[in-house]
Amino acid sequence: MNKKLYINLAVIIVLCIGFGNIKAQQPLVKLQKSNPISNRVDSLLNLMTLEEKIGQLNLLTPGGGVATGEVVSKDVEGKIKAGNVGGLFGVTSPERVRQAQEIAVKESRLGIPLLIGSDVIHGYKTTFPIPLGTAASWDMEMIEKTAAMAAKESTADGINWNFSPMVDISRDPRWGRVAEGAGEDPYLGSEIAKAVVRGYQQDDMRAPHTMMATVKHFALYGASEAGRDYNTTDMSRITMFNYYMPPYKAAVDAGVGSIMSSFNDIEGIPASGSKWLLTDVLRTQWGFDGFVVSDYTSVNEMIAHGMGDLQAVSAMSLKAGLDMDMVGEGFLTTLMQSVEEGKVTEEEITQAARRILEAKDRLGLLENPYLYSDVTRPAKDILSKENRELARKAATSSFVLLKKQDNMLPLKKDAKIALIGPLANDQNNMLGTWAPTGDFKLSIPILQGIKNVAPNAQVVYAKGANITDDAAFAEKINVFGPRAVIDERTPETMLDEAMKTVDGADVIVAVVGEASEMSGESANRTNLDIPESQKKLIRALVATGKPVVLVLMSGRPLTIVEEMSLPVNILQVWFPGVEAGNAIADVLFGDYNPAGRLPVTFYKSLDQLPPFEDYRMENRTYRYFKGEPLYPFGYGLSYTTFTYSDLRITPATIKAGQGTSVQVTVENTGSMAGDEVVQLYLTDLEASVPVPIRSLQGFKRIHLAPGERQTVSFTPRPYQMAVVDYQGQRIVEPGNFLVAVGGGMPTGDSQAKGQVVTGIFSVVGERTPVEFEY
Ligand code: BGC
Repeated sequence: MNKKLYINLAVIIVLCIGFGNIKAQQPLVKLQKSNPISNRVDSLLNLMTLEEKIGQLNLLTPGGGVATGEVVSKDVEGKIKAGNVGGLFGVTSPERVRQAQEIAVKESRLGIPLLIGSDVIHGYKTTFPIPLGTAASWDMEMIEKTAAMAAKESTADGINWNFSPMVDISRDPRWGRVAEGAGEDPYLGSEIAKAVVRGYQQDDMRAPHTMMATVKHFALYGASEAGRDYNTTDMSRITMFNYYMPPYKAAVDAGVGSIMSSFNDIEGIPASGSKWLLTDVLRTQWGFDGFVVSDYTSVNEMIAHGMGDLQAVSAMSLKAGLDMDMVGEGFLTTLMQSVEEGKVTEEEITQAARRILEAKDRLGLLENPYLYSDVTRPAKDILSKENRELARKAATSSFVLLKKQDNMLPLKKDAKIALIGPLANDQNNMLGTWAPTGDFKLSIPILQGIKNVAPNAQVVYAKGANITDDAAFAEKINVFGPRAVIDERTPETMLDEAMKTVDGADVIVAVVGEASEMSGESANRTNLDIPESQKKLIRALVATGKPVVLVLMSGRPLTIVEEMSLPVNILQVWFPGVEAGNAIADVLFGDYNPAGRLPVTFYKSLDQLPPFEDYRMENRTYRYFKGEPLYPFGYGLSYTTFTYSDLRITPATIKAGQGTSVQVTVENTGSMAGDEVVQLYLTDLEASVPVPIRSLQGFKRIHLAPGERQTVSFTPRPYQMAVVDYQGQRIVEPGNFLVAVGGGMPTGDSQAKGQVVTGIFSVVGERTPVEFEY
C-alpha cells in the first residue's frame, strides 16, 4: 500500500476556479476578543446544528502539489459552504488560503474559519536535514530554532497547523520511516519532541509566526512488526510505557495542540478506534486537552481490520476519543445516522466539535480568520539569507564522522579533488524524504558547495555509477520524481570515466548511499547494504591507492561493514536539506568540526537483528543489544579529541525518590576547537524486573577550544532511576546504579582511552512510586 501520491495541478484548478466565485457576504459570527476560550466556543456551539458540529470534524484535502495520499476530496468548495468542513490541508499561499477562508467565513451559515494543515516535516521551503539528521546533532537549541523557522515560513504561506513532530521510536532500521523520527532512544526522542513542539508553538499559538503542532503517530507506530509500514504492533505494557510512550507524553506535557492517531493496531484494536489509548491513557492519565486527528483515511482502514462497516468504524472512533477524520469522510457521512440509531450521542459529537473550535480559538482564527493570509510575508519570511544560514548550520551539526583514516581530514582548500559518485552533483535527493513543500531545484549540489567553500581547489567530477542498476527498483524510488536516474551509458563506461577522472587527483571524495525515497513512508527495505552498483565503484576507487573520503547519504543506518573495513574516511550526512553542498564542504575543509552523534545503532548486518517473528525488545536498539554493533548509538568522531576525568556523584547514597548530582571534567586534548556531546548513561544493577542494559539519561553539547577544560553537571531525577509497571507507574527501587559519562556509550575500549568515566550510586529505603515528569 502506497499512501503517497503527488497530484499536480488539481488544487490550483479547484482553488482558482472553485474558490474564485464568492457571492454572499454574510458576516462572521461576532466574538468578543476578551472572552476566554470556553465562552467564545460555547457561544458558537450554542448556535450550531448537529450537522454543523459534525462538519467541524471533517478534514479534507483538495489535492495539489503537496497532496500526500491516494484519496483526494471532491467538491471541497460546496462542502465548505454547507458547513461540512473543519479544516483543509494541501492548500498553500496566503492568497489561496484567504480564498478558502473567505468561503468559510462569508458563505457558510456560521462563518467558522478553517484549520489549514500541512506536513512540514523538516522545514517548509528552507529544508533542513531529515529529522533523523537533526536528531544526530543532539542540539536542542538548534532543533527548536529550525522548528520556529519552519513555523515562520509555513504561516507566511497560510498554514496554521503542522502534522509534525513524528516522535515514533524506531527499533528496526528496515522500517522506512526511521528517517522521519528522532531514532531509537526514548530519552533523546522526548527531549527532541519537546524542543520541536516549543519551536512550532512557542508560548503563543495566536502569534502570526507560530503554528499548532501535531504529535504523531499515536501510538507505537515505530514498532510495527518486522519493520513493515502500517503493520500491527504487539508488545508488553511494560515495554510500551517504558520505551515507546515517553516521547508522546513529553510532547503532551510541552502543550502540543493536537495528536494524530496511527494506522497500526494495538493489542488487536486499531489505534484510531482505541478508547483505552485515545481517552484512558491520553486524556485521563496524561491530561491532554487538545484534539485528536486520524491519519489519512485511517478510520476507513479500520474496515479492513475487521471492525465493521464505515458507519460502525466511524462511531467506534468518535466514541474512542477521535475528534477529526482525515479525508475519509466517514464522520461526515455516517455520524448523523448513528445519532438517530442511538449508536453515538449528541454530547459525544459536541465534545469533539468543542475541541476543534478550541484549537481554532487557540490559533487566533476565531478573532481573525485571515491571521495567516498576509500577502506581504512570503517575500520577507521565506528562504531568506538568515533562513538558509540556519539550514547550513543545522546540516553541519547533524553530520557524524564515522571513521577517520590517516589524518586525511580536513582537506586542504587548494587540493586536487576528484569528486565521484551518483549523489555528488545531484539536487533531486538532497532534501530527503517527506519534503513535499520544499523545492529540489533550490538545493546546493556537493560539487557546487565545494567550489563555493574552496574556490582554489581543483575539482574534477564524474558520476561513476548509478544509485542502483535495477530498473524496477529505480521505478519504485522515482514515484515522486527522478531520484535514481539510470544513466544512458553502461555501468562499465561510467566506471571507466571515473577511473580516468581520479587520475592526477590528490584525494577522492565519493558521495554514495541511498536515494531519498529509499527511506520514508512505505519505503521499507530488506537489504540495507549500499547498492551493488555503488559498492563496485567504491572498491575500484579504493584500489587506486589514493586517499578516499566516503560521504554517505542515507535516511537510515546502512550495513556498511565492508566499507568500514576499507582504508577510507566515512562521513555520515543523512539527507542534509537545501544547503547540502555548502554544509558538506564546510565540514570536509574543516570550517566546521563535525560533532554529530548517532541517534540509532548501525548494525554489522541484519543478522544481528532478531528474526521477523520475534517481537521482543531483546537485542533491539542499544538499550537491549548484547552483541557488538558496527557503530553504537551515541557514537561519532571529531577532528579533535576529548578526555574525561574526575567523576563526582553527590550524594552517592540517596533515598528512593530523591535525585542526585553527577559532575565530570571534559577536556579538549586535540589541536582544533570543537563540540563534544557529553552523554550520561545509567544502569540499574539490581532491578526486580528486566531493565535495559544501559539507558541514556542526560546529554549536553558543549564547545571547547584546544586545551580547554569544562565541568559538566547532570542531575538525574527520580523517575530516571525508576522501573515501570504494567500501568505505566514508575517505581524507584533500592539498589545500586552504574553511572557512565562520556562522548559515547561505555565500552572497554572507550574507558581505557579516558573517553568514558564510570561510578556507582546507591538508592536506599522502600520502593517508592514517583511521577513521570517531563
Ligand atoms: C502519513 C502522515 C501524514 C498524513 C498526511 C499519512 O500517510 O502517515 O504522517 O501526516 O499522511 O499527509
